[in-house]
Formats: sequence, C-alpha cells, structure tokens
Amino acid sequence: MSAPTENKSSDLPRFLARRARDIAEPATLRMAAKVRALKAAAVDIVNLTIGEPDFDTPDDIKQAAKEALDAGQTKYSPIAGIPELRQAIADKLKRENGLDYDADEIVVANGAKQAIANCCMALLEPGDEVIVPAPYWAAYPSAVEFAGGRPVYVKTRVRDGFKLTPGALAAALTPKSKLLILNSPSNPAGAVYGEAELAALIEVVLGHPRLWIMSDEIYERIDFSGRHASTAAVPGARVRTVTINGVSKAFAMTGWRVGYTAAPMPVSAVLAKIQATLTSGANPFAQAAAAFALREAGAATERMRLAYLSRRDLVLGLLQEVPDIRVSRPDGAFYAFPDVSAYYGRAVDGRRIANSVDMADYFLDAVRVSTVPGAGFGDDRCIRLSTAASEAELREGISRLARALAALR
Ligand code: PLP
Repeated sequence: MSAPTENKSSDLPRFLARRARDIAEPATLRMAAKVRALKAAAVDIVNLTIGEPDFDTPDDIKQAAKEALDAGQTKYSPIAGIPELRQAIADKLKRENGLDYDADEIVVANGAKQAIANCCMALLEPGDEVIVPAPYWAAYPSAVEFAGGRPVYVKTRVRDGFKLTPGALAAALTPKSKLLILNSPSNPAGAVYGEAELAALIEVVLGHPRLWIMSDEIYERIDFSGRHASTAAVPGARVRTVTINGVSKAFAMTGWRVGYTAAPMPVSAVLAKIQATLTSGANPFAQAAAAFALREAGAATERMRLAYLSRRDLVLGLLQEVPDIRVSRPDGAFYAFPDVSAYYGRAVDGRRIANSVDMADYFLDAVRVSTVPGAGFGDDRCIRLSTAASEAELREGISRLARALAALR
C-alpha cells in the first residue's frame, strides 16, 4: 500500500547519511509550502490543509508565561521537565485518565512529536517491526524509520470506523513486532477507541512477548463521542505502554512546543537520557504556561471542542450532499477524511485524476482550495480536510470542491 517511504529521495548525494536521505517529505508540509507560495502571490485560497487550531492560545495561559518570564524562568530547565509541570501532568493523568504515574515517570519533550521520536529511539532496534494502523499521522513512519524500525501498515476499514480490529492486529504480528502505534482520537480519520475496543486489542498485545504500545492521545480533548479512554488504563496495559500527549491541540499551543511521555521505569529514565542527548529540557516559561493550562484552562478547551463539533456537523452535512463521495463521521480531532476515489479515472480539459495527489493538486489549481492527499496518510482513496477553519471558509471551500468534482467526467 502507498506510504511516505515510497517517495524517498534517493537522488540526494551519497555523502549524506542514509537515514537523512531516507526522510520522506510529509504530504502536509508539501501542501503547506504550495499554499504559502500562492498566498505570497496574493491568490485567494481556502486553506483546509492546516493541522493546528485556528484559535489563539487563551489569554490566561499567555499571562502564566509572562509571569514565568518575569520570575526569571529563562535558563536551562531540568532535562525531564520542570517539577511543577511534571506534577501537573501526573495530577491530570490521575484526575482525567485514571492513570497512576509518579512525576518522575513523566518526561517533557519539545512537543508530542519529539516525545514520539524519543519513544521510538528508546524502544526500537534495527529491523524491529512497528504496527501502524492506516490511515495514520504522516509523522509516525518517519519517526519509526529514523529509529531503525520498519513500519508495518495495517489498513483499517471505513465500516470499522477506521479502527484496528484485534483480528487484523493478530494477523500482522510476527516475532519481530516490537511496537503498536495507537492514536485516538485519530488524525486524519477522527477514530475514537472506546474502553472495550482497547481491552480487546490489549488482550492480543499481552499475548505477544515483546510488543509495546505507543498511545498518542494528543486529541483527547477534542472528542465528540465521550468515549475516549486511555490505553494505559486498561488492566494489564500500563507496563507495556508509553502514553504520548501534550498541550498543542487541546489548548491551541502548537507553537509553544510542549509535549510529554508517561511510561514506566526504566523506559522513562531512558527517555530522559534521549531528551538530554538531543535537545536538553524544553523551554521553561512554555512549560510553566503548560502547567497552568493543565490545572486551570479546562473551560477554554471545552469552548473550542464545541466549535469543532459544530464544524464537524456542518462539514459532514455539506459533504454528504456531494454525489459519489463517501464520508465517515469523525468522532474526534478536527479533520474530515472523505473517500473521493469514485472520481478517479475521470478527467476535465485533458487532465485526468488518477489518485489523491492528483485530486489535491486539481482542487488547488482549479478552485483554489488546499487539502492534503490521503496517500500521505496511507489511504489513497481519501483526501483530508481540516475543520480548523471558520464556518464561512468551510462552506466556501466545500462548495468549490463540489464544483470541481462536478466538472470531472
Ligand atoms: N500526534 C498527532 C496525531 C498529531 O496530529 C500531531 C500534530 O499534528 C502531533 C502528535 C504533534 O503534536 P505536537 O505539536 O505536540 O508536536
């Protein structure tokens, strides 16, 4: 199946390390660069590419950062995070997720993305297989490969709500399997695993002697189903799970770069060593603001969640009116992932659309709407639309997409 690893830049000079030459360009970043160039040329674009909240960071969180700056929190911070934040995370995990972690089992990183890379480097030996349910967030395969692991993509089905089933997991396991990546709510499909679904998967995991789980719960606060559950809270799972989370999505703090892992010892100790090797501790005043956010800013996240929910409903309604599109209802996060493959093979003005990359390029060229091709997420049937945009932009964007599709014959 299609995967970012297929676009490797083998034409880069050979004096560069193989691991560097092999890094694939994420589809999201390729599209974002195209959009930036068009915008710089003052072209009117409806941008549905974005993977970050369109809200500003709430003022009281900014204020907490200002106070930390004034208090002199401007120096190197402890490698694994400032004590205040590690404690706030441990308290949050207990309060909201039913998880028992000591503060020293929490390691703060420069965003969840670094936490994910740290986790892969901590657990993977060269050749270890990593189960990646598809569609997946495009950064997982890169993090896995950079650490020497080998992604094994397991395609999920629309009728399973884009969720991995225990049978599909069991069928993908081999003696080399080392890590299973779970992402709930998921990017791009908005899949949310409930407690019973996780328990059924954990049963399979525990039957495999060396399998760990990386559970990325970064979108947990953008859950429309009320079903989100933490993987590590499932009986038996904690000793094999590294939980990934952060403040980027919940609190509209993508630029602050604060994420974290929660994992049992000795994994946490090793994660801190990797953090020390790569970047040292994360920005201290951003960490102080993150601690404040986790303790006190719940109301702001709820307001944003409700806005994403009403946009999800709007987008779903509009897409359902477009002929030949199949769309499943996202239960969380801020994306829609419609299947547009019924249009593949059709053409307009001599331009034939064969796949999701052609389709996303066509949308951008013909009606100035930017989307992300599903191929970058391991599902070429679909394109990803971000709902981190105003209702007016979403209406305009989808009406333009419908017009572009109607022109294809
Ligand atoms: N995990 C998923 C599934 C994401 O979609 C993203 C960002 O797009 C991240 C992690 C990264 O979060 P952070 O900004 O904390 O690095």
